[in-house]
Amino acid sequence: MPPDLRSLIEAGRRIVFFGGAGVSTESGIPDFRSGDGLYNRATGSRYAPETVLSHSFFLSHPVDFFDYYRTHLLHPAALPNPAHLALARLEAAGRLTAVITQNIDGLHQAAGSRTVLELHGSAHRNRCLDCDRAFGMAAVQAAAGVPRCPCGGVIKPEVVLYEESLDPAVLAAAVEHLEAADTLIVGGTSLVVHPAAGLLRVFGGDVIVLLNRAPTELDHLATLVVREPIGVALAGAVD
Ligand code: ZN
Repeated sequence: MPPDLRSLIEAGRRIVFFGGAGVSTESGIPDFRSGDGLYNRATGSRYAPETVLSHSFFLSHPVDFFDYYRTHLLHPAALPNPAHLALARLEAAGRLTAVITQNIDGLHQAAGSRTVLELHGSAHRNRCLDCDRAFGMAAVQAAAGVPRCPCGGVIKPEVVLYEESLDPAVLAAAVEHLEAADTLIVGGTSLVVHPAAGLLRVFGGDVIVLLNRAPTELDHLATLVVREPIGVALAGAVD
């Protein structure tokens, strides 16, 4: 009998979860690259999303950047779904060591996860470019036009834009957790976004579970591939 998700999770002692946008779609946050995702929709903008969400565009067209960012990337009303909650339970039970995520929505922390490595930063952390003062999501959400610090400086989301590098400390922590893991669960990512595919090569364990609607380049390496919605699959496999 082939292994099922529940038995693989029950056997794991140092599980790492690596997740992408598909983890949050069940919370109502659109995926960037799937069929009905953000990149395939008419944006109403003259610019492509990859252009708008770049460092140089942020500097040259801040009004357009924040207009797009607030409309498409901020989801202040989104709540954790059963996938986030199941992963938080696994960590609380001492079996999952880290969640590595490409998402910026903070929903893993909202669900109760503690070790969350946010490869692309977080919409909940924002900083004045002039005085470095920190702001929450509301400062960006509520502003009309370009959000500004009382000092006059522009407030920039601590989100990794195109042309920007990932935080080396976050990457190093992700590598450390992957090297020490015995079980890797990958969910809601097509694994085409840098550095996902490369990062997963450092995984030191034997069991890889893939939770994704569509096939990925890693399917042939997986112990188990699950096509069910991630929330359904994880909620059904974790007590
Ligand atoms: Zn300031």
